[in-house]
Amino acid sequence: MSNTSPAQPESLHIVCPHCDAVNRVPAARLAAEPVCGKCQKALFTGAPVDLGSARFLKQIERSDIPVLVDFWAPWCGPCRTMAPFYAQAAQRLEPQFRVVKVDTEQAQDLAARYAIRSIPTLALFKGGREVARQPGAMDAQNIVAWAMQNNR
Ligand SMILES: [Zn+2]
Repeated sequence: MSNTSPAQPESLHIVCPHCDAVNRVPAARLAAEPVCGKCQKALFTGAPVDLGSARFLKQIERSDIPVLVDFWAPWCGPCRTMAPFYAQAAQRLEPQFRVVKVDTEQAQDLAARYAIRSIPTLALFKGGREVARQPGAMDAQNIVAWAMQNNR
């Protein structure tokens, strides 16, 4: 055997849901309740992260884990119905996924940029790029299943 260096443990960039600092976390430690090196808060909170325009791009572009997004609005009845299901889904999808929500009434530029035509709309981003989209409300089980299916 040649003298190869020992395998480096795989580490992932995880963007803090509180302060947006980019953390490097060994993949094996993702589930071990890692904390942010900058603000010392939990990198995974088990709840969807509310993101406005200012934070959205950094969160989707710098994150090495897929980011699930719920585009919604406060006046939308089906969105409000789905909110508790989406929160349940977040608990099951973290830390494999980052789960966020975007209020399209506040972040109208994001709604326009991604051509959101109906709400709620779920979208999955990997490496900053949208890889899947699904309009319409879903229950927790279907949200989890949809995210898993499209994370390939
Ligand atoms: Zn932080």
